[in-house]
Amino acid sequence: MRREITALIEQMTLEEKAGLCSGLNFWHTKPVERLGIRSIMVTDGPHGLRKQDGNSDHLGLLNSVPATCFPSAAGMACSWDRDLMYQVGVALGEECQAENVGVLLGPGVNLKRSPLCGRNFEYFSEDPYLTSEMATEHILGVQSQGVGTSLKHFAVNNQEHRRMSVNAVVDERTMRELYLTCFETPVKKGKPWTVMCSYNQVNGEFASQNEYLLTEILKKEWGHDGFVVSDWGAVVDRVKGLAAGLELEMPSTNGYSDRKIVQAVQNGELAEEVLNDAVARLLEVIFRAADNANPDATVDQEAHHRLAMEVAQDSMVLLKNEDAILPLHADGKLAIIGAFAQNPRYQGGGSSHINPTKLDNVYDEICKLAGASAQITYAPGYNLDNDDIDAAAVQEAKAAAMGADVAVVFAGLPDRYESEGYDRKHLKIPANQRQLIEAIAEVQPNIVVVLMNGSAIEMPWIQSVKAVLEGHLGGQALGGAISNLLFGFVNPSGKLAETFPMQLEHNPSYLNFPGVGDIVEYKEGLFVGYRYYDAKHIEPLFPFGYGLSYTTFKYSNLVVDRTSMSDQDMVTVQVNVKNTGSIAGKEIVQLYVRDVESKVIRPEKELKGFVKVDLGSGEEKVVSFTLDRRAFAYYNVELKDWHVETGEFDILIGKSSQQIELQERIHVESSVELKRSFTRNSTFGDIMRDPFGAQIAEPLLRKFREQSGLGDGLENDAPEMMLAMMNDMPIRALLAFAQGAFTDEMLDGLLMQLNGANA
Ligand code: BGC
Repeated sequence: MRREITALIEQMTLEEKAGLCSGLNFWHTKPVERLGIRSIMVTDGPHGLRKQDGNSDHLGLLNSVPATCFPSAAGMACSWDRDLMYQVGVALGEECQAENVGVLLGPGVNLKRSPLCGRNFEYFSEDPYLTSEMATEHILGVQSQGVGTSLKHFAVNNQEHRRMSVNAVVDERTMRELYLTCFETPVKKGKPWTVMCSYNQVNGEFASQNEYLLTEILKKEWGHDGFVVSDWGAVVDRVKGLAAGLELEMPSTNGYSDRKIVQAVQNGELAEEVLNDAVARLLEVIFRAADNANPDATVDQEAHHRLAMEVAQDSMVLLKNEDAILPLHADGKLAIIGAFAQNPRYQGGGSSHINPTKLDNVYDEICKLAGASAQITYAPGYNLDNDDIDAAAVQEAKAAAMGADVAVVFAGLPDRYESEGYDRKHLKIPANQRQLIEAIAEVQPNIVVVLMNGSAIEMPWIQSVKAVLEGHLGGQALGGAISNLLFGFVNPSGKLAETFPMQLEHNPSYLNFPGVGDIVEYKEGLFVGYRYYDAKHIEPLFPFGYGLSYTTFKYSNLVVDRTSMSDQDMVTVQVNVKNTGSIAGKEIVQLYVRDVESKVIRPEKELKGFVKVDLGSGEEKVVSFTLDRRAFAYYNVELKDWHVETGEFDILIGKSSQQIELQERIHVESSVELKRSFTRNSTFGDIMRDPFGAQIAEPLLRKFREQSGLGDGLENDAPEMMLAMMNDMPIRALLAFAQGAFTDEMLDGLLMQLNGANA
């Protein structure tokens, strides 16, 4: 702690200290002018700045100053581009500086448990590694500009339904491996100045007063040294929250909570040291923001618009391209269909909703890039305000499509389908859009669908169209991005950061989403997203990590720099990637790890590395990955730590989670041997699988077989059969079947021997 902070705390009155723990108003911390403590502004976030100059709200309903609207996280994650994410962070930081904002509220890293979550557009992925990597870059980028971030919403906030009361019930291992990992790496590597707690309860305690999450894990285990801010209105019991590690309550309660804190200190319910520690954390960040403020900062809005376009281009995912219908010929006859072409959906609703500096009209951008002799017609085809089928609009669209070489249909989810504050009920696009696609297909075989949506949708119409470009919520420069991709000025390079299931019912959380009353049980455990589709062999519509390009890539020469390692070592993995097509392109090379055999239930494979590589036609590069212990580990609830089991692991290199191109095996030796804890109920199988156990138990087994007569009639050379029969038999069965030759004392002695073998 800085010396001046300690000195300041000594000079502050109890009321001033309590006052610092809640906001001045909706967006500012309280100043203490007599001591030179300034007020700083904290505001949304995450993919653009939402600074309200006039009236305030936390639902994005009222006006805010113009700011660049970048694609939302669901899109940016599909770029799998760490550098680009960092650049967006830098741009966001610059915009904050120019508007005198001290902390930007984001990124949001909640895992996509269900595609129905209304806020998925604001989150990165169904995979914790991809989420962590992107979030870390976001934080580092923003904070490189002397502006803080607020990693949110901590934690296990994966639905909007009853978000302020629901209790997410999740087992410790799942929580650690999936939901908390999304926060852990960004906290450790990105060092966000602040973390925002979520509204919901986690295993029976509200996140805003959850000591286990806020103090034990976040502060002590992960070393977070900033402050925790409540989500807006998330505080339930202010004093309990402060004691649990929640430093700042937002928005202001006009002194109401402050008085509770003062009273609690006065009546001994809350130790003043706890308040002092909270104030120290707050002052540290407030001073950091104040010291780094740059009143002369300006923003190059055009440059940020261009960056928003670059990110959108690299994020959009080409899902289908039959007969290489894309890229389009610039001089053809094009029918542009769908109201989204003129009124794009480019951002989501709620607190992240910002006022863009400008907005591309997709139709205009297509016209700009089309050749001089191109003939372009437009028909809206559907109404954006409702799902009703407008027969006249459909007829008009059909007529336009009939006369064209290709119909480009814009479809997706309107705002009313998907937003912060509520979840979807299904994965369908509106009926009027579905019907329009089928109607166009009656008159035009060459259909390209461009999608605008924040999360996965079902596509029952996929066989009726030749190409699908997933545009996500592409931000304010989506028009330029889409036209560049459609005409091939830019080669698509995004890959999906979430599985698109064939139908909602295939999603692993389907039976337990959004829960009953105020309880949602995460019964699918670790099997979220591709971890589930892999294990159940359920074919998704499009798998995690999937995306097409206008060129082709070949992988070869996988080299793992060792065949065996200790879990304290690092291993380097290299692979050659060649662009075997005739145009330049970028490829996302994915590395998954599979534990070949495990005592615990593990997913088939898990993403542990990725590299995005830019290759000219015919060019070949070597890409490298470095894996450490964590890439092989699972969370061991007894050890309360990550643990690597000694054994074989496969290193899989893929173009997607379902297209593994190359693989190599490596032996990893654990540095921590788990204490054996055999009991009377341990089976012969448990014991024989353990090398020490086997040494001790083998002679015993032989004797038991002789005495019990079990296995009589088996051929002498049938030990496997014998073992299989005894595999699930507890060792206490020796008492029952050894005809009195085995006693309780002997059993206790055996257990001591077994457990002592590596004590
Ligand atoms: C959202 C947060 C947001 C806050 C302030 C809440 O409703 O959940 O993500 O940062 O409002 O607008």
